[in-house]
Amino acid sequence: MTANFISHLSMELESLKKAGLYKSERVITSTQSSDIELADGRKVLNFCANNYLGLADSRELREAAKQALDRYGYGMASVRFICGTQVEHKQLEATISRFLSTEDTILYSSCFDANGGLFETLLDEQDAIISDALNHASIIDGVRLSKAKRFRYANNDMADLEARLQEAKDSRFRLIVTDGVFSMDGIIANLKGICDLAEKYGAMVMVDDSHAVGFVGKHGRGSAEYCGVEGRVDIITGTLGKAAGRGFRRIYIGQARGGGLAASALPALSLFQHPHAGDCCRFDPSIRAYRTRGELRERLYANADRFRTKISKAGFTLAGANHPIIPVMLGDASLAQHMAEKLLQRGIYVVGFSFPVVPKGQARIRTQMSAAHSSADVDRAVEAFTEVGKELGAI
Ligand code: PLP
Repeated sequence: MTANFISHLSMELESLKKAGLYKSERVITSTQSSDIELADGRKVLNFCANNYLGLADSRELREAAKQALDRYGYGMASVRFICGTQVEHKQLEATISRFLSTEDTILYSSCFDANGGLFETLLDEQDAIISDALNHASIIDGVRLSKAKRFRYANNDMADLEARLQEAKDSRFRLIVTDGVFSMDGIIANLKGICDLAEKYGAMVMVDDSHAVGFVGKHGRGSAEYCGVEGRVDIITGTLGKAAGRGFRRIYIGQARGGGLAASALPALSLFQHPHAGDCCRFDPSIRAYRTRGELRERLYANADRFRTKISKAGFTLAGANHPIIPVMLGDASLAQHMAEKLLQRGIYVVGFSFPVVPKGQARIRTQMSAAHSSADVDRAVEAFTEVGKELGAI
């Protein structure tokens, strides 16, 4: 690298620091769980992981992964369309298809990859993508790769979506694209409204259900189940990296790295509450006897309700509803950063989010509940938020 470039980067970093936008990593030395250990030895309660069902350190899943690694090795040393598909990939795809009642499923190594490959593959310049303004970065990147015309509608705003559908009426195919759950806000998309408009205008619907698969909806089948529109969504992408373990999407060919990883995701699916998963769990028979499927979701939502009720009684303004993502709205970016630091000193691990991740003036601490938390953990978090909030004048 030239000295000029390095000095340019240093200046960029300095200005990020001055603007309070510099992000430093916190290193953890334990497994991912409700309580974690930091590199400096501190033990803290984690309220910012996507560990919704608390499966990240599940003994059963770890055992299944170990067995699968012994049996199938560490990697495929090839892409899928050459010689990189194993029986476990196929089984996991079939299991996901049964779980979500889709015609087909294809695994990618992550949902980021799936969203990156989706639009360019399916649509061209004759087509239109109509995308929610708050969609995840991976959708935005994926849409940019496509030659289709782009339209953006205000978050969850059906009148605006309808106007964009009318604007795009001359396109060959129109695809409405939305997150099932908007991850910075904990808001579930209005899929009923979206599917109704799609039908009215002959458009297709794609939903990224990363923050919903496995726990949103009565049986954990995601935001389509929650909104009563199962069978009306054309394409679902999602991840097993939040409620369980690996990335997947419904259609088209991609690349999933290791057969072993697919094998460990199979039993993870059995921990979601659905009738067909058990027959795929031959890697660890103990999983078949695992009886906490529905309980995990119940515990998750009980924790979410408890936190939401208590923290709002304490005087905080919250965003979202009916989801374990509970953003505590603070407005000011430095207040959010400062508050997160002070909470960490009190043993509560949370992160402040500010512009450009969320709009200017809407900084927040996004908390995420997990089935792994106990009621006492939730109460400890509320207590710490209340103390720090008073100290900093946030409530
Ligand atoms: N889509 C949404 C809405 C997400 O929140 C995320 C992860 O944060 C992704 C996609 C990417 O998922 P993965 O971690 O599987 O790449």
